[in-house]
Amino acid sequence: MLRLLALLVSLGLMASAQKPVYWLLWFDTEDFVEPASDDVALELARGLTQRGVRATFKVVGEKARVLEQRGRGDVVQALSAHDIGYHTNFHSVHPAPAEYLSQMGLLDGAAEFARRERAGFDDVERIFHVTPSCFGQPGNSWAPQANLALREWGVRVYMDDAGQVGLNQRPFWFGGMLYVFNLGPHTVRAGLDDASKLEDAKRRFDAAIASARQQDGVVQTYYHPTEWAATKFWDAVNFSHGANPERESWQRPPLRTEESRRQAYRIFFDFVDHARATPGVRIVTSRDLPALFEPRDQAAPVATARHLAESIDTRDGFSAADQLLTLLGLPPQHVDGPLRRVASTDARTEIPRALFERAKADAAAFVRKTGRLPDQVWTGAQAISLPDFAATLAADSGAGLVKVRAGRLDIERYIGRDAQKLYNWVIHPEGFAPESLLEMARLQAWTLKPARLAASRTATRGE
Ligand SMILES: [Zn+2]
Repeated sequence: MLRLLALLVSLGLMASAQKPVYWLLWFDTEDFVEPASDDVALELARGLTQRGVRATFKVVGEKARVLEQRGRGDVVQALSAHDIGYHTNFHSVHPAPAEYLSQMGLLDGAAEFARRERAGFDDVERIFHVTPSCFGQPGNSWAPQANLALREWGVRVYMDDAGQVGLNQRPFWFGGMLYVFNLGPHTVRAGLDDASKLEDAKRRFDAAIASARQQDGVVQTYYHPTEWAATKFWDAVNFSHGANPERESWQRPPLRTEESRRQAYRIFFDFVDHARATPGVRIVTSRDLPALFEPRDQAAPVATARHLAESIDTRDGFSAADQLLTLLGLPPQHVDGPLRRVASTDARTEIPRALFERAKADAAAFVRKTGRLPDQVWTGAQAISLPDFAATLAADSGAGLVKVRAGRLDIERYIGRDAQKLYNWVIHPEGFAPESLLEMARLQAWTLKPARLAASRTATRGE
């Protein structure tokens, strides 16, 4: 009996040791000023290919164009052995995305993002012969309007690292996109300047893998090819704090010595070899991600949705919007959050049933027509705000007068509060603090929910 128990325990340990953890290695391939960064991209792509590692290169439109102009078909070919993502049209040339989107709403902002960024997306697609699989903003120039445009372009993954929105250091759904973002200690990098710190980076990687394994997370590591070429970022040299010189005046960044560059490669590939040798680590690209996670659109059970009465929050893996769709009798689908925050103007504590049923039908019709949640639901000449409507609907017994409840937007705690700190990228103007973008993110938090690994659900069922 004891021997059987010991066998079962060891089998269990083996099973948990073998449970895969996904590792994403990606490069923001953006430096269109310093040609030495082209050679770095080539060397990185080839070195990884030799090791059987597929990374994701998020390419800037202007970078793709200068590779073409400089006749660097070799670089394009080497990168094409990996996955290709997108990283804006001009990166740090002002206005950066958060700069031009901070003055706009959700819908006009999405159209403006598409107007400014689509040409670069098309160039990356044309030059690399593949539709970019993901997007990430330059620096921390993040804005919620991008999600709408990217969805329209068929991009399903948002892969980057910044602090405006995050969900327990794990992948999540937001604005209809699969986000690998704000992973905290699950984002691990080995510094390229000091070989003595490499062992510490490996330990942090091991700890991140162990932690991610416990909570269905992923681990990511990111770099920029320019880090091997130069000692200072190409854009900090030219576009700091709103500076916007003409192309003829762009300065090249100070370069690394050959010895320092060789050491940076040694550190990096040693770190990659450590990751490759770590049991249970599966190296994936952003293109692999959607299939690894459960589908975005699933119907929330009524019992789950009823909890909107007390708290508007993500629950049991469903977003607040998913739960509201269930209460409205609508099929599971992505819908955007509201455009505005408004207060209820209907002061009644009870509403006649027929009137409420009509308001509910109108809300459902609005969602079907627009693909987003309404700011408010009308009860005649007055209206109930979206949160109050959701709470009221969730608590409604279905008979008699409808008791109006105040909604509690707990979901907004996942959105950052300090705009100045969250947008403190050296390229943005001093003091840049677009509160409007964080407020828009709070409105879109209705769409926020954890992304669950498909394999984990299967494993749990089997256990
Ligand atoms: Zn970048």
